[in-house]
Amino acid sequence: MNQEYFMRLALEAAKKGDALYGAVIVKDNEVVAAAYNTVNRDSDPSAHAEVNVIRNLTTQLKNPSLEGYSIYTTGEPCPMCATACVWTGISEIIYGASIQDLISINQAQVNISCEEVIAKSFRKIKVTKGILKNECLQLFA
Ligand SMILES: [Zn+2]
Repeated sequence: MNQEYFMRLALEAAKKGDALYGAVIVKDNEVVAAAYNTVNRDSDPSAHAEVNVIRNLTTQLKNPSLEGYSIYTTGEPCPMCATACVWTGISEIIYGASIQDLISINQAQVNISCEEVIAKSFRKIKVTKGILKNECLQLFA
């Protein structure tokens, strides 16, 4: 299993979203949770794919900590989602399209990178970018 394999699962999840974003969480080379954006159906502006997948998993685990887990997300986590990642202590973020990429195709974004959020936090989170970026952007075509 490589990073592209897991990003493809996030892409599949994204297709079910109200906005076309998806995320999966992986541990020990296995997907343990998947989610997508449900902002409209839940009338919840915080129901981004990343917040949803984190909530699904931490609820299931009955533990707010996701140390040792990796999140794959089709779009770079927005400042809200990046902060949620910080609070969980998740170990790694792997994203497809960056906030800049998404702004360039007219997607509404807050223009602060997840690395800026992490750098101002008390955690170190590894960030890997650009995995299947074109496929992640193609969702909006
Ligand atoms: Zn977000």
